Amino acid sequence: LLQVRRLTKAFGSLTVLSGVDFDVERGEVVCVLGPSGSGKSTLLRCINHLERPDAGVVALEGEIVGFRRVGQALHELRGSELARQRSQIGMVFQRFNLFPHRTILENVLEGLCVVKKEPRDTARPRALELLDRVGLAGKVDSYPNHLSGGQQQRVAIARALAMRPKLMLFDECTSALDPELVSEVLAVMKDLAREGMTMIVVTHEIAFARDVADRVIFMDAGNIVEQGPAGDVLGNPQVDRTRSFLARVM
Ligand code: ATP
Ligand code: MG
Repeated sequence: LLQVRRLTKAFGSLTVLSGVDFDVERGEVVCVLGPSGSGKSTLLRCINHLERPDAGVVALEGEIVGFRRVGQALHELRGSELARQRSQIGMVFQRFNLFPHRTILENVLEGLCVVKKEPRDTARPRALELLDRVGLAGKVDSYPNHLSGGQQQRVAIARALAMRPKLMLFDECTSALDPELVSEVLAVMKDLAREGMTMIVVTHEIAFARDVADRVIFMDAGNIVEQGPAGDVLGNPQVDRTRSFLARVM
């Protein structure tokens, strides 16, 4: 489904991604682990073109993300073309970024009606169904600041799902939550994985990675240093840097 090839990104003199290669199959759940500053967020942001890669390509179902091929050259996409591509890739961040002055239901409807241009009367049942699925059927008319962090994060997931993404990206989406709220968000993610959603999950939740990931990627200093089935990478890491990282977080 997704191909990442020689993906490279620097901020000034700091190389944050130095030629990252990997593929994600349809229905696969990939967890990305690694120390702070290793480039995990930048990798996700390059995948949906929130950051423009310096070199390399990201392709979703064979279509290059963020660029159009014109002869030999790549022209960067803008505006509605980029928005259409991005709508195929859902992203959930550490901070929920909900619109504070709109209800939960309106927050979920926003993308559907504005980006996908679905009429309100067909979008509404779908938004309600998604909110039910993340356990918030009773909160649709509430405002974000009346919800717990875990509930807000579940709204953010419903909002991303409303766009019918082919791929979902999660960037430490539980690390700003109080510990007792983490499990309700992880449970929603686990359900999604079970239903066959393709997901790339940056997380420090080792237990989640062990349970849910088909594959674990370990990043350090802008490179993938180790990857493989969750049981292998977490249970029997081959690389020193993975071993010492896991020893610290487990
Ligand atoms: P964490 O686990 O702390 O979230 P990370 O693996 O997600 O870390 P990134 O956020 O991808 O790491 O950042 C990698 C490096 O790039 C860091 O040194 C960071 O300071 C730097 N960086 C990220 N975004 C920018 C930016 N917009 N401008 C300059 N430097 C940046
Ligand atoms: Mg990060």
